[in-house]
Amino acid sequence: MALKFYNTLTREKEEFVPLVPGQVGMYSCGPTVYNYPHIGNYRAYIFADILKRVLLYEGYKVKHVMNITDIDDKTIRESQKAGKTLKDFTEFYTEAFMQDIASLNILKPTVFTKATDYINEMVALIEKLLEKKFAYQSADGSVYFDIKKFKDYGKLSGITLEQLKENASGRIKSDEYEKDSVQDFALWKAWDKNDGEVFWETSLGKGRPGWHIECSAMSMKNLGEQFDLHTGGVDNIFPHHENEIAQSESATGKQFVKYWMHNEWVLVDTKKMAKSANNFYVLSDIEKHGLSRIAYRFWLLMANYRTRVNFVWEALKGSEIALKRLYRLYLELGDDIGKINIDYQKKFKEYIEDDLDTPRALAVLWDLIKDENISKADKKATILDFDKVLGLGFENLKEKEIPEEIEKLAKEREAARKNKDFKKSDELRQKINSLGYEIKDSSGGYKINKI
Ligand SMILES: [Zn+2]
Repeated sequence: MALKFYNTLTREKEEFVPLVPGQVGMYSCGPTVYNYPHIGNYRAYIFADILKRVLLYEGYKVKHVMNITDIDDKTIRESQKAGKTLKDFTEFYTEAFMQDIASLNILKPTVFTKATDYINEMVALIEKLLEKKFAYQSADGSVYFDIKKFKDYGKLSGITLEQLKENASGRIKSDEYEKDSVQDFALWKAWDKNDGEVFWETSLGKGRPGWHIECSAMSMKNLGEQFDLHTGGVDNIFPHHENEIAQSESATGKQFVKYWMHNEWVLVDTKKMAKSANNFYVLSDIEKHGLSRIAYRFWLLMANYRTRVNFVWEALKGSEIALKRLYRLYLELGDDIGKINIDYQKKFKEYIEDDLDTPRALAVLWDLIKDENISKADKKATILDFDKVLGLGFENLKEKEIPEEIEKLAKEREAARKNKDFKKSDELRQKINSLGYEIKDSSGGYKINKI
């Protein structure tokens, strides 16, 4: 079966055919490093990770680029509030992000691009748009993209020409805005006093880039003027990705990206996660609830990336229990690794190739584990094969030597023995035996073994 993805651009599930056979260029909109992202934001990175793992599993060579937005309206505003330089402030959250994605078993992108390292490329792109008259300079020196000049404006988000005519009379300088204020957007923002120390002296004057031009410049620099895949959350479709298309295609005259893929939201109590609604969780809250981050990854994989999911702690607890059960069943398979079971692999591939259907792929994993006709060694090999895509960490699982509870009972027994309370020490020994462990005493102390 061929690999198929839902393409936001065509609104259809399409067969994936890369521009260059065997190779994939993929760009994911990364974090704006001004705070700890909420757990809903991480769905975008887990989704992109699954997509990349599927491509690798299918034998493609993947160049994956992810940006770090370390200059925009929010980073400037929040660094000023914190009384820190933009660099110090954004570096702190960049480092935190790196640790967080590693804790979710997200493979590191091939290239991380920091927006502030690409100011020259952004300026060059804006110059090109000015030259081709797709952009114009306003009285304050800022540069705006003239959306009326790009006939395909709206093709990704589905904004109609009527909407454009009604609203496209003005300009918008802020990086983020809603569909009902579709207007010419800022490519370059002339310095004003709110920017403080943050500015670059360039051929466009003193100022800083707008958010949207950053991703166009960084992606094209690393992946070329045309590439295969661009990912992000659904809230990136408008205006961010719509604007990326407008800028890039106007500058090059070529189709920018072949397949646009977007993940849906994580809701809390059926509402969008937001600080104002007091339903805002960060990854460290997961540990505060005594749960693991991988359980969150596992929970997300139980739904297709294009469906909205409703986050509740009870559900995460349930996925933690299910994941631990999977781990235990895996560890019980022993040390030998056999052959991948081709029938199960075929089913698994069929599902992941169908627009990353992870819920059904997980069902195949459960069926495999329960199948008594497959040898333990072959099961183990097949699970490890599936985990190249799922990233649940089976490979690094180790049998926990002795459970804490047994250790505790053994210590109590040792204390009883030292106090010459042999009745109690015998009782404890029996209890330990009944739990599947035995204690062997020697001159150097005691040893616990599994029976
Ligand atoms: Zn972006």
